[in-house]
Amino acid sequence: MTESKNILTDTFGRKHTYLRISLTERCNLRCTYCMPAAGISLSPKSHIMTYEEIYAIAKEFVDHGVTKIRLTGGEPLVRKDAALIMEKLASLPIELAITTNGVIVDKFIDTFKKIGLKKINVSLDSLNTDKNTFITRRDYFKKVYDNIQLLVKEGFEVKINCVLIKGFNENEIIDFIELTKTQALQIRFIEFMPFDGNKWDLEKLVSLEEVLKQVYAKYDASSFIRLDDAPNDTAKNYQIKGYKGTFAVISSVTNPFCDSCNRVRLTANGQLKNCLFSTTESDLLTPLREGKSITTVIGKAVQAKQKVRSGMDTLEKFKDPDSHNNRSMIAIGG
Ligand code: SAM
Ligand code: SF4
Repeated sequence: MTESKNILTDTFGRKHTYLRISLTERCNLRCTYCMPAAGISLSPKSHIMTYEEIYAIAKEFVDHGVTKIRLTGGEPLVRKDAALIMEKLASLPIELAITTNGVIVDKFIDTFKKIGLKKINVSLDSLNTDKNTFITRRDYFKKVYDNIQLLVKEGFEVKINCVLIKGFNENEIIDFIELTKTQALQIRFIEFMPFDGNKWDLEKLVSLEEVLKQVYAKYDASSFIRLDDAPNDTAKNYQIKGYKGTFAVISSVTNPFCDSCNRVRLTANGQLKNCLFSTTESDLLTPLREGKSITTVIGKAVQAKQKVRSGMDTLEKFKDPDSHNNRSMIAIGG
């Protein structure tokens, strides 16, 4: 193994080949589970990575073995130079993907096609207009729903991210799965995770087990298929026989998938997080701006990665409010 590969391999032998880059802390929605009601204090513009800095940091990771980059945020597409950033990153030898709330995704179809970006994850937590307005604090359900149809029609691989919250949308699980009967979508049910200011409570969690209970009650055992998961997949994948699409559960809270974790995160202000649940960060932007090498900083951050959820290795630990002293999700990049 070359020395360059080693800096992204942690003490548990996990190779970090997947970088998630947050392009912005800003968003055109205000999802209650992601952004505190009072909003967040945004980093000064001068602290946000420029597109050249994003490219320089991304290239450093790619030179050391990263093969996949996902753009996220905040809402990545609200950044004025989003198309330029995508075009620049697409020149690297990587698979480029994006996670978006879908509100303005229709404006980027030509860019996606031009650069060969095929994998698009769109967030949608309810199939009901009013419930969507409630959860996102904005009224864009129709626009997002239509844009999802458009992306599928245009041939993109679309996954829908649906954060499940008890008493809000667990009664829509089957409705979401039924969308996959005729549409080649993947629905991904995500267990609600705690972040700063999002009023997380174990009582609000809809677990993998609860999702499967509903599925077993609705579908005949012989028509319900457990699919093979791709290596490093965070989702457990399923399909109803004969349906065009699939569904999956991301059980970060009740069944973490840390053993096969291959991802690290770069925040919009240039901080490297070695785990979504990590409360510490490594500053890459300052040394980059000072003209120093960031290789050692990256290596140290990867070496410091803990085995499970940055030390939150039991469900009990989620009950400690101090464990939620992370950034808000909007400022991390989910
Ligand atoms: N704005 C884009 C979007 O909404 O898809 C990208 C950024 S968003 C932070 C990325 C993903 O994180 C979304 O799918 C969102 O549902 C998920 N997310 C945000 N807060 C979460 C939480 N508390 N628990 C689980 N998933 C969360
Ligand atoms: Fe914005 Fe996405 Fe967070 Fe919703 S989940 S507030 S769309 S960043």
